Parts: sequence; C-alpha cells; structure tokens
Amino acid sequence: MNQGIKHVLGISGGKDSAALAIYLNNTYPVLDIEYYSCDTGKELQETYDLIDNLEVYLGKKIKILKAVSDENHDPFDHFLDVYGGFLPSNTARWCTKKLKLMPFEKYIAGEDPIVSYVGIRGDEDREGYISKKSNVQSIFPFRKNIWSEDVISKVLKNDNLEFIVRLYQESCFHTNKDRILEIAKTPLSNSYNRKTKLDYLLDSSTEAFNKVVFQFLKTTNYPLGKVDNYPLIQNEDVLVRSDIFSILKDSGVGVPGYYEKREYRVDIDGEEKIGFYSRSRSGCFFCFFQQKIEWVWLYENHNELFNKALDYEKEGYTWQQGETLKELSQPKRVKAIKKEHYTRIQRTKNNFKSPNLVDILTDSDEWEIDWEEEEGKGCAACFI
Ligand code: SF4
Repeated sequence: MNQGIKHVLGISGGKDSAALAIYLNNTYPVLDIEYYSCDTGKELQETYDLIDNLEVYLGKKIKILKAVSDENHDPFDHFLDVYGGFLPSNTARWCTKKLKLMPFEKYIAGEDPIVSYVGIRGDEDREGYISKKSNVQSIFPFRKNIWSEDVISKVLKNDNLEFIVRLYQESCFHTNKDRILEIAKTPLSNSYNRKTKLDYLLDSSTEAFNKVVFQFLKTTNYPLGKVDNYPLIQNEDVLVRSDIFSILKDSGVGVPGYYEKREYRVDIDGEEKIGFYSRSRSGCFFCFFQQKIEWVWLYENHNELFNKALDYEKEGYTWQQGETLKELSQPKRVKAIKKEHYTRIQRTKNNFKSPNLVDILTDSDEWEIDWEEEEGKGCAACFI
C-alpha cells in the first residue's frame, strides 16, 4: 500500500502525537508507518514510559533519534558545551533546532518521497513544523483540512482556478455540486480570502475537496502525486482535545503521567484553599516555556529534576528572565506563585460563567491561562 512512499510520524512524548499513532494504526492499518522520536536526553521519565507503552500497543519499535552520539554527554549537554553554557530561551532556541529538527532532517535525508503525519488537532490554529524539502509532504489527519498550507496556497491560487474548476466538474458527484462549483469559480480577492474559500469548500464537501487536491497533486512533485490512491482522502474526522484523551485511555496506552492534575494547598486571606497543578507539555524537564506554576510543580513533584535544572544556572545564565530557580524555590516565593495561580484560575472560571464576553476580554491580559490552554504555546516540534 505504501506505493514507494515512506510514511513517518514523530512521537514527541506529548499526547497528540501519541494519539495520532494509535488513530492511524487503527483507522488506516493499510499504511505502514515508521515512528521516530528525537531524544534530547532530558525528557521526563513519563515520556519514556509513553514510548514504551506505544511500542507495545503498535507492535513496532519507535526509532530513537539522537542529535549526536557522544559517549560522555547526552545530546543536550553536548550542545550546551558547544554553546559555551549559554542556556536556550524562547528567543535563542538552539535546542529545538539542534536536538529536534536537525535529527529529523537527517532521518529523512535523501530524495525518497516521504509523507510526514502531524498531530495538530481540529481545535487548534497552528501549523507545526514543515520540512522545506520538496520530497517531504506533511499531512494533518486530525483536522478537517488535512493538507499543509503550501499545498492549499497552490490549489487555491487564482492562476489555477480554471484547472481546479475542471477537476471539480469531472470528479464531484455531490448533490450540492452546483453550489460547490460556484464557490470554486469565485476568485480570491481582498474581500474573499483564501481561508474563507477553503472553509466554504471543506464545509460543502470535504471528500470532494480532497479528491480535487489529490488530482491536482498529480501535476506536481509532491509525494502523494505519485500514488494511485490514498485512503485519507475519504477522511472526514475532526478530532479535538477530548477525543485525544479518549483515544489514549481507551487504547490502554494511557495519558502521559505529567498531565495528571495534582492538588496543592494555598492560604487565601486566611483560608486554606485547594488548587490544582500539573505540567502542560512534553519536552525537556527544564524547558523554558514552562509557567512559574509548572516550575513549582517540578520542584514539589520531581525535586531531583528541579535541582538538576537549578545546577544549569551558572554565570548569569538562567532558565527564566528576572528570576533564578533558587529564588523561585524559596518558601515565600512558592506560596506567592501558588496564590497568584489559584487566584487567576478562579478569576478565569468566574469570567467564563459571566454572560458578558466583555468581562472575559477585559481581563484576558492578566490571566495565567489554565494549563489546558498553555499547551498550544511554544514549540510544535517538542510538544505536539
Ligand atoms: S522541550 Fe524546550 S528545552 Fe527541550 S528542546 Fe524543546 S524547546 Fe528546547
């Protein structure tokens, strides 16, 4: 079924890529997919446990990619030496490039056509990492639009309008064909942008749109232009966050342990309250994308890892701007972070109960957004 194409899926250690592996294995067993994971050497144990569970479930090995083979150092420490102890940050993110993206690019090196599956969900609005190599094509099975942005921009380009209309005329047998053709014939303009047209076409018939894109690809060098059939063309599923948790739970693979909310106690105006914290993402235990409350979670739930993270802070290099981990872990500061977190979450909840949208929007700058929201930020290569 692979028809000369290599299908690959990167397991980040996060819930979405794990659920995608399970979903594709169950829904499209005909695809022979290779799984890989880029190991920085600094992942949480829960990530390694997830990979073990997935291997058992899928009945396949997940290839572990390491940026370097250095007997004395794991990949992160190797590159930290290369960078002279300069800790990565969201403005100098050498870690993602060296430890995640470069091993992936090396893994897919060569000219063989490759389809890479990405676990961006139907309720997210981001694209994920897309290789610039022309022999690599990304597919997003959890979204209504399974195609990558570069493919869509070519398909909907005004220059290709006549060709696309012809493909619709030849391949569409939908009861709403006339309406669909009207949409297809309307050129993009300042008042009719690509996203609007795409949404109209997908909402009218996802399958008809996918068929047209698949035919269009045959006129290009994209990997899927080289195959006779591709089962995901019929895919109409849109999977959102709750579906991901169901897939992980129902399969028995399980949700990565760090997502599990744990209780903390905090004094609010003389009254003891119970709040909840957890980690919002996979990736390195010291990842600088963490919120303060996640650092507190690490301090209280994986103290040995927190101390290791603290040991990296030397010679003025810190994981967060303006505060060292030593300062953050002082009892007074821990209390203050919990108090701030608890208060913000309560405010968020109260605002969501408010019937006035304005209440939500006015306060939005001050929220420490709940961890469920937080996971969408940061690095798609590390956290999907
Ligand atoms: S998880 Fe964070 S620290 Fe680790 S490679 Fe990704 S961005 Fe860098």
